[in-house]
Amino acid sequence: MNYRHSYHAGNFADVLKHVVLTRVITYLKRKPQAFRLIDTHAGAGRYDLSGTEAGKTGEWRDGIGRIWDVAAPDDVAQLIAPYLEVVRAVNGDDALRFYPGSPLIAQFLMRPSDRLIANELHDEDAGLLRAEFTRVRQAKVMAMDGYTAVKALLPPPERRGIVLIDPPFEEADEFERIVGALRDGLRRFAHGVFIIWYPVKNEAAVERFVASTQGLGSAPVLDVRLAVGKPFAGLGLTETGVMLFNPPYGLAQELKCILPWLVAHLSEDDGAHFEIRELGAAG
Ligand code: SAM
Repeated sequence: MNYRHSYHAGNFADVLKHVVLTRVITYLKRKPQAFRLIDTHAGAGRYDLSGTEAGKTGEWRDGIGRIWDVAAPDDVAQLIAPYLEVVRAVNGDDALRFYPGSPLIAQFLMRPSDRLIANELHDEDAGLLRAEFTRVRQAKVMAMDGYTAVKALLPPPERRGIVLIDPPFEEADEFERIVGALRDGLRRFAHGVFIIWYPVKNEAAVERFVASTQGLGSAPVLDVRLAVGKPFAGLGLTETGVMLFNPPYGLAQELKCILPWLVAHLSEDDGAHFEIRELGAAG
């Protein structure tokens, strides 16, 4: 386990993933019933953008750094407000220095009755997460394998919720592991919202992944892609995707409003684009 998210926190891929996450949470809050979020690969929770790791890559400068204090058209501004609200909250009135990871974003937006399970296998990051949530009763930190967590923790007692699967993609078979986890997860929690983050490094591998997620159940699927530039032939990530099972109704429309603005602000060259595919009921 060499991957440390602190090198990448706040980059364009985090921006897409976290905007999607905040929109899904916003939808779930429209009903009074409590929900649970299970973050299978939760990371450290909070990242210091002035720290050594973030400083080495500077990736956040071309992600959150480009949008956090830029005025957006009203419709976009309203949709990304929950996301930027958390980013501002962890920074107080100061300049952008800290970036909130997925568990912190989720917990900030949750109501007192909602529950968070933040699971992280790396000792150091799990320790940071525990410190982050010591006094937060609605959050529980666990340190098991993320895919085992899907089996062990579903269905949630609330019978409503989100499973965020955001692995480091260090292993060659990460896509296959995700498909296995989805198979287990959808069997146990058929109407849960599953959010899967993935990098687009090899288009054929991604398309194989998308194809193999079909037939996993009857859940509708939404696949969202954001490219900030042309592929760099292995030099760095220029495209990312988020796939959702059981996306809230209306989310695709919202993303059609947000993504052109993100492309305009995060673009590196004329290869920047987005794509939203509604893949319909799997199977
Ligand atoms: N979800 C976080 C966010 O959005 O802020 C970022 C997570 S990062 C992409 C992936 C995390 O998975 C890393 O912190 C890594 O230590 C952790 N990890 C690696 N292998 C794991 C495993 N088998 N089970 C759980 N976590 C794992």
